[in-house]
Order: sequence, then structure tokens, then C-alpha cells
Amino acid sequence: MQEEILKKIESYETYAVEMQRRLTAIPALSPLSGGEGEYDKAKYIESELKKLKFDSIEWINAPQAEAKNGIRPNLIARYGGRDHSKTIWFMGHMDIVPPGDMKMWRTDPYKLEVQGRKLVGRGVEDNQQAIVSSIMVLKAMMEVDYRPKYDIALLFCADEETGSGFGADFITKEHPDIFGKHDMFFVPDSGCEKGDLIEVAEKSILWLQVITTGKQCHASRPAIGINAFKAASELIVKCQKLYKKFPAKDKLYTPPVSTFEPTKKEANVPNINTIPGKDVFYLDCRVLPCYKLEDVKSAIRTLADDVEGKYGVTIEFKSYQEEQAAPQTDSGSLIVTALKKAVREVLGVKAKAHGIGGGTVAAFFPAAWDFPPWFIQG
Ligand SMILES: [Zn+2]
Repeated sequence: MQEEILKKIESYETYAVEMQRRLTAIPALSPLSGGEGEYDKAKYIESELKKLKFDSIEWINAPQAEAKNGIRPNLIARYGGRDHSKTIWFMGHMDIVPPGDMKMWRTDPYKLEVQGRKLVGRGVEDNQQAIVSSIMVLKAMMEVDYRPKYDIALLFCADEETGSGFGADFITKEHPDIFGKHDMFFVPDSGCEKGDLIEVAEKSILWLQVITTGKQCHASRPAIGINAFKAASELIVKCQKLYKKFPAKDKLYTPPVSTFEPTKKEANVPNINTIPGKDVFYLDCRVLPCYKLEDVKSAIRTLADDVEGKYGVTIEFKSYQEEQAAPQTDSGSLIVTALKKAVREVLGVKAKAHGIGGGTVAAFFPAAWDFPPWFIQG
């Protein structure tokens, strides 16, 4: 049966390229990026799904006035298995990243170009490959009359590129009943050319804006002011203590430790002879999931309290991103070993489980489930 299904999939090349061509021609940009959302793309995908023998096709619409027809659609297509105790989900996203400077493109980003064995166009990889390949797998099963062991569902989300508030985050908050406690999730939304990486873990992300307020004065009389830049610089150096305070190591990640790095710095005074009364810089923290971001934040607050006491400044924090990662999936769990086996059989390579330094849609799913739901494989 497996042989037959794989053969079927091999025969779908023209079908896959054509679907990629149609998908590429429908830009699905978030209103935040100047687009009107995923409506047209979802309509097209639904029309393709309807040609196949899915048991149900459902729209979950997140309302957004700025989007076409006032909605950001999420599509679910289900194909029942022999045992309904769990559903295996394949998640893709319909929205794309804006193409950026059009002059930098050698081709029209919205017109698919086939260059040998390569497809070129905005969205073909991120994330239309997931949509097209998961549809092909089910089309093959349907054509050979095969019902898989467990139920399979395809979930094509909106809004992955700009925060998932109308996509995965919306669905897990507003319609949690869609998912079963024992369900498993594959998220083919990243990876490498060889296809030998399986993501099973993420670091938590914390982006902080740090605002230090002192007192501006002339640089010739520093004693009558409070140098906010100097105080902030001391805090930056102190923040390096976080590496010692949160020292856990995990070889699953590169680098294997949590990181706490000062990054962006806003301009302060325009001239050299003024003591700055205000300083703004940013911290980018990537924290191993064994630590709580709450604890990291309170450690940073303690360091800031020290600096406040020493200099007489006030230091405030504004969180730009704060995502506690779900617990990592065991590299030896059934879903990882099954995926490794499939990669070996189909691609002939040995896949490795690893963790990433950023957050994905996995963070939106309840951590209490059997398998934390991220398996990202290119
Ligand atoms: Zn993506």
C-alpha cells in the first residue's frame, strides 16, 4: 500500500506545479502588511479540496474589519481513519511575507517560474509547499482507497507571519474543542534542503525595551545631572550575569544555552556636549524552556533596581514580545521516530531532532497535551 501511495504522489508533479502557480498568483498578505488577508487564497484551496473525497471541509473565520469580507479564514479538511481516537494534523499557513523591494526580484514574485527542478515565486516554500504536499498525500490515499490508521486533518491557517492572532492563536483560544487531547501535529514550515532536520523544541522569547530616565545637563557640569546613558550601560554589563543565573545547557539547541543580548540602541542627544537624560536600548533574550520568563524578568528587575539605587535613575521595561515556549517533545517519542523512519525511507537521509532559538505556532497550543505539537520539517 505504501509503495502504491508513494507512486501516486510521484505522478502528481504537473498537478503540484499547477497548484503552486495558482497559489502564487493570489497574494495573501495581512492587512498589517498592506494586504487584504487570505480570503481569495482560501476560496481557491477550498475549490481544490472539494474535488477530492474529504469527509468535511470547514471554515473558521476570525473577524477583522480591514480584511476582505471582514474575515481572516482558517480552513480545516478532514479525512477519517479506521480509528477515531486521535487526529494527525498537518498545519500550513496561507499568508505570505511581503516580497520586499520589487527591484531586487529577477522574476515577478506573484508569477510562478519553473527553473529546472526549482520553483521560484513568493510563497512557494513558505508555506505553499506544506499546503500542496499535504493535499497530495491525501489525494493519493483517496485514489487508492486507503483509510489511514487514525483520522487526518489538514489545517491551513491565516496570519502566521504577523503573530497568528487571527490564525493558530485565535483557533486555540476561541475553538479549543476542535483539537483532541491525544492529537498529534506536524508543522512543515521550516527546515533544510536535505530535509534531515526535525524540530522538536523551541526557546522562549523575551524582547524588552529598556527605558532609563536620568536628568539632562551640560557635559561640563555632570554633577548637576544624572547620566542615563552611563546608568543604562552599567545595566547592559550587569545583564551578562543572566548567563550565570540561568546556566542550563541543552545540546538540542545551537547555541546550547539561553542567551541575553543587548541589541538595538535608540539615538539619544544630538550633540557631544550634553549629558543624556534618557536612554533607550533593547534586550533580546532566548531562554531554554526549563526556565520561566517570569523568573528571567524578575532577575532583570533586580539588576535594574541595583542600578537605580546607585545612579538615582528610574528604569522601566516594555515587553515587545513574550512567548513562553511549550515543553519540548521527547526526541524518542513515537511521532519523532515515525517521522525519522519516513524521512529515511522516502528521502534516504538520516534525520536529526533539534531545537530552534525562536518561537513558532507551537507556543499557542496547550502544553498539557500528550505531544507538544511542533514537528517542523522542510
Ligand atoms: Zn512560514
